[in-house]
Amino acid sequence: MTDTVSTLPPVSEMMRDCGLEPKKQFGQNFLFDLNLTGRIARSVPDISTTPVVEVGPGPAGLTRAILMANAPRVIAIEKDKTTQPILSRVIDASNGRLDVIYDDALRVDFSKLGLAEYAVCANLPYNVGTQLLIGWLQKIASGEKIKSLTLMFQKEVAQRITATPGAEHYGRLAVLTSLIADAKILFDVPNTAFVPRPKVQSAVVQIIPNASKISEIKNLDKIEQITAKLFGQRRKMIRAIIPGVAWEKYGLTGTERAENLSPKTFALLADDLL
Ligand code: SAM
Repeated sequence: MTDTVSTLPPVSEMMRDCGLEPKKQFGQNFLFDLNLTGRIARSVPDISTTPVVEVGPGPAGLTRAILMANAPRVIAIEKDKTTQPILSRVIDASNGRLDVIYDDALRVDFSKLGLAEYAVCANLPYNVGTQLLIGWLQKIASGEKIKSLTLMFQKEVAQRITATPGAEHYGRLAVLTSLIADAKILFDVPNTAFVPRPKVQSAVVQIIPNASKISEIKNLDKIEQITAKLFGQRRKMIRAIIPGVAWEKYGLTGTERAENLSPKTFALLADDLL
């Protein structure tokens, strides 16, 4: 069987043929630009030797780019079953490399996909993007072999993931991410790249799990709890939120606010206080 992904008709034409229209309730903003989808797919480290999990293939613009970048295997999880006629054609063209699971990615147990290790690459639905990211971070912390995550987010979420202490967007997402991985914004994507065009700008973020950081983390759930507590009242001094703590033990006075604490300090506080 030969691989004919590169000879498929353009995504927009396949959508017309199948009568597929973007649906708001699934957060559908599609990418048709081959240069852009190719750039995202080729950003996945070692893509030609790494199985890829994609959430939300939709009409398969990015999926096709991932296949054309020679990913040996792709498992895509799509909630909208009306994409099936298009995705079936891509499966047929993929020479056995693509499988699609029609389900809500929030309900899928990624550790049961049968992949010893994998990369995640996705143009995420905006309404569940951060929830999915937190799920992947928890999986990484508990030892799942996710080699990399290359993800499209709204620009503001991308800034929240990659922010450093003291920065405007610093919060729970940056703390959790930086405690187990190295994250950076690879490039910005203008809203004009999507169909339909969203109001906000986007960016592609890359998150690479860092083994030495992961080995130092005892309990990511507790870190989540303490970041939620302290950033929940981010204008308050930490001593007003959690009274009775010997802050000097952590090199603090208690007059700091959550935004001034380093990720490592959150980890220490989580171990001691919860
Ligand atoms: N990958 C396509 C692209 O780049 O053109 C589509 C991206 S679109 C932003 C998000 C996709 O995620 C849609 O196809 C949507 O149906 C799907 N989706 C939304 N919520 C989902 C969920 N909970 N689980 C799986 N897929 C979901």
